[in-house]
Amino acid sequence: MPITANNPNKKTWVNTPDNTDFPIQNIPFGVFLTRDDIITIGTRIGDTAIDLGAMHQLGYFEDIPLTDDIFLQDTLNDFISDGKKTWRLVRNRISEVFDIKNGTLQNNEDHKSIILFAMNEIEMQLPVQIGDYTDFYSSREHATNVGTMFRDPENALMPNWLHIPVGYHGRSSTIIPSGVPIHRPMGQTFPKGAEKPVFGPSKLVDFELEMAFITTDANSIGEPIPINDAEDYIFGMVLFNDWSARDIQKWEYVPLGPFLAKNFASSISPWIVTLDALEPFRTKGPDQDPKPLPYLAQNGDHSFDIQLELDIVTDKGISTTVSKSNFQYMYWTMAQQLTHHTVNGCKVNSGDMMGSGTISGPTPDSYGSMLELAWQGTRPVPLNDGSERKFIQDADTVVIRGFCKDKGHRIGFGKVSTKLLPAFESKNKK
Ligand code: CA
Repeated sequence: MPITANNPNKKTWVNTPDNTDFPIQNIPFGVFLTRDDIITIGTRIGDTAIDLGAMHQLGYFEDIPLTDDIFLQDTLNDFISDGKKTWRLVRNRISEVFDIKNGTLQNNEDHKSIILFAMNEIEMQLPVQIGDYTDFYSSREHATNVGTMFRDPENALMPNWLHIPVGYHGRSSTIIPSGVPIHRPMGQTFPKGAEKPVFGPSKLVDFELEMAFITTDANSIGEPIPINDAEDYIFGMVLFNDWSARDIQKWEYVPLGPFLAKNFASSISPWIVTLDALEPFRTKGPDQDPKPLPYLAQNGDHSFDIQLELDIVTDKGISTTVSKSNFQYMYWTMAQQLTHHTVNGCKVNSGDMMGSGTISGPTPDSYGSMLELAWQGTRPVPLNDGSERKFIQDADTVVIRGFCKDKGHRIGFGKVSTKLLPAFESKNKK
């Protein structure tokens, strides 16, 4: 089925700012609370939020096989379960209704007053109930930098790294949408020169510049997903900040890997941009040498050219872009990650989320964590207010933006923005 929604020449009757992340060619999906305190599934064009629940009730999705309440829910999980054909039909229909040549809704003031909201009238929620969350470690540059710092520059990559999309199971309970502040985590660390471990607020709070993909129901238990089918089970992508406490991590991670250093908070951008919308920005990832085993072997373009920027904003509102990276630097593709994840029969459900791992590029200004940007605190990063950072300070806000761009055509993700607050003070403290 053609993706008519991607037609770059299409114009909309919705007032759309120049250079918006959300032209009519994007049509992402999210969940929001309306001015009337009703939760609904929606999309967005420019700075206008569109209530898909209301559109469906008013008959705009006629002839598309959807249950009556599919958009009147507080998560996208059931809609995502409907599968790729339905996502495509719905996106194409939305594109048709908001086309400048279509007068149906355009000329119906009553319907418009029910369906359309200004972005400042709504509050974005988590778009899916995330059942399981897995984080990969798929940027060669990031893995090499970390291996160089923590182990041995000669053997920075572990022997498995070029053969397996390495990952670990994370925790979904602390995944939050953009805008929700987090506290500096407490934990156990073993500072340099200390004789025994100490307990207190983490001193080395860091971000990880990542993206994540959201899956649909992919398989039954025991059933691997073949590499050439894997992309069909990916609904879309979000920006992802996988907050990390490096001092807790360093002490706790042996031998089972990350635990409390990683599960205190991870933030995502609230609009899921579909893989369909990203089609025009498909590109080739890095060459894979040695060749992956046959179950992971792919031909063609399976990465996406998504430009990424990360800003640190100080308490006074002064912003500094500290990293510029790109999703296409990822060594392993999303399809390879998903296929590898299920090759043993592991079941993947609608609404599961898989993080890319920190996305570092080849140059020092493209590194995706403070650990790398300030090289373990040895090269402090200057900020525009004259201060510098080795890691993230209390009251700093970390903002990640991401977008694809070609001539006159931009598909963006908006942003994920999270403020770091001081360590949590117990309410019972006397
Ligand atoms: Ca991570």
